[in-house]
Amino acid sequence: MRNFILCAVLLGVSAAAWADQVVLTNAGADTPIALVDAQFGDCENDTPFTSVSPIAIGDATEGADCDAEIIVFSDDNAIAVVENPGLTAGDDTVTVALQSRWVVPVRYWVVTIDPVPPDLEDIYRDQVDIADQAFNESHAGISFAEPTFDYEDDPTWGQDVATLAMGVFNGDTDPDVYTAKLAERIAPLLNTMNVYAVQAPALTGFHLALPDGRSSGHITIGVTATMSTLAHELGHAMSLDHINFIGIDTLTGTVGEYCVAYGDHAYYDGTCDYGVKNLMWAEQSGLRDEITEGQGFRTTVNTLSFINGRVPAIRPPAEPQRDCADWIFDRSCPYLALDEN
Ligand SMILES: [Zn+2]
Repeated sequence: MRNFILCAVLLGVSAAAWADQVVLTNAGADTPIALVDAQFGDCENDTPFTSVSPIAIGDATEGADCDAEIIVFSDDNAIAVVENPGLTAGDDTVTVALQSRWVVPVRYWVVTIDPVPPDLEDIYRDQVDIADQAFNESHAGISFAEPTFDYEDDPTWGQDVATLAMGVFNGDTDPDVYTAKLAERIAPLLNTMNVYAVQAPALTGFHLALPDGRSSGHITIGVTATMSTLAHELGHAMSLDHINFIGIDTLTGTVGEYCVAYGDHAYYDGTCDYGVKNLMWAEQSGLRDEITEGQGFRTTVNTLSFINGRVPAIRPPAEPQRDCADWIFDRSCPYLALDEN
């Protein structure tokens, strides 16, 4: 009798079960992560599956009440967003052709840094390498080209630029006045991240957004920029906000440093767990070179991200775009701290 029941159960399982998989083409050597929105019995959101291809995702379906989406993160490819992949109540194979990473050109405009240190370009190349690391190994699928350099050496003009840059940094100077001063000698490159390196000793760096929130393609760094300042400003240019703030706890009145609270998902597993190396800490003396998948998703799909907001766009306009503010988490937008690395 016992054997009969076991046999019946096995038959029942094999008759009802199916198995879906995601097959990746052009995959690199790393282990990708697929976040799946679909119906697995219940309607689930961003259920993670970590595997080399093929990625088994169990028994998933989609329908009007439970729209489906598969997002694939990998080290060496762009993030792939597959809307409505066609998951049925049967064996499905969803083939995802991974694309190469989106590449952002970088031009450094060196404004009167005197004397020019012999290793200045090596330092700036290292800054770009850190950005490359942050947006590649954290699965964001964006890379930065080897920078090119241009030197502007009018000392009077350079001092004016530095003074105005410091004013922008402190909130005392209209950015338009500053960019007009730069434009006297520099025509920024289109479709390129223009990085202005200025002789302002107390300045780390800032990114200038346009009035509509898109990136202007302008980052300024000072001579006290840390090695991860450029990468951090690139995070802003690709729509990310700080994950912390310095201020006053409204409950206790204590001045301190706080995580930015985004509903239930401000705190991952009950703690403010973005990792000490997260790129978007506002103040960080150590190296910042990591982002979460929630952050990487935003840098890729947000309409305000530099890679989508240029003409021509670095990422083709036919690719899915979203408006995932840091604080939004729904079926369109994974929560910011989601990190399956
Ligand atoms: Zn910042």
